[in-house]
Amino acid sequence: MLKSIYTLVLASSLSVAQNMPKAAVYSGCTAPKTVALTFDDGPWIYQNVISDMLDSKGAKGTFFMNGNNYECIYGHPPVERLLKTFNSGHQICSHTWDHRDLVTLNATQIRAEADKMDSKEISTFTETFLDFYVAALFKILGVNTTFFRPPYGSYNDLVREVLSEKTFILWDLEQVMIHSNLHVHPDLRLAAPETLSVKHPSKARTSTMQLSAIAS
Ligand SMILES: [Zn+2]
Repeated sequence: MLKSIYTLVLASSLSVAQNMPKAAVYSGCTAPKTVALTFDDGPWIYQNVISDMLDSKGAKGTFFMNGNNYECIYGHPPVERLLKTFNSGHQICSHTWDHRDLVTLNATQIRAEADKMDSKEISTFTETFLDFYVAALFKILGVNTTFFRPPYGSYNDLVREVLSEKTFILWDLEQVMIHSNLHVHPDLRLAAPETLSVKHPSKARTSTMQLSAIAS
């Protein structure tokens, strides 16, 4: 009898665990015949080179930001770059605070990596709002961001459960460099349907060349 109760409880908790809400994951555009240009790891020194080029072509990009990758996001130059891009109408999203591989972290650490950029509790913030390491994007931009890109595109069920309120945005096309020469993916030149492209602002040459190729 005891064994059957135990089995029942175990089965019940397993089914609860399996039914935990998880973050939605997208790796391609949902609208037919569209391409989304996304850029990671900013706001570093090439941030406005990229957003200005997009502006000059009448295009908008989505930028996934880190809090502490190449530099701290709270510095004066990063804040200025971030605001310039945001005020030009580009989309700003979270790429975690430290750019760590989330599958190597526990639940508390995963939560912290997200909350240092923006927090699901943002609407009820009180004293924690004053915490330096909470909701950097909200503090700088005055808005809570929507989309989230896990560093390296790395995630598992635990990551999706801990960050269940978020929408994960991956990609289905990444620019590659061979012998320092950029090879623009032919599908991108042809505006492949439903393509989510990713580039890293840390690599200005590839990013700007990619944009030039698309715009040409
Ligand atoms: Zn990244």
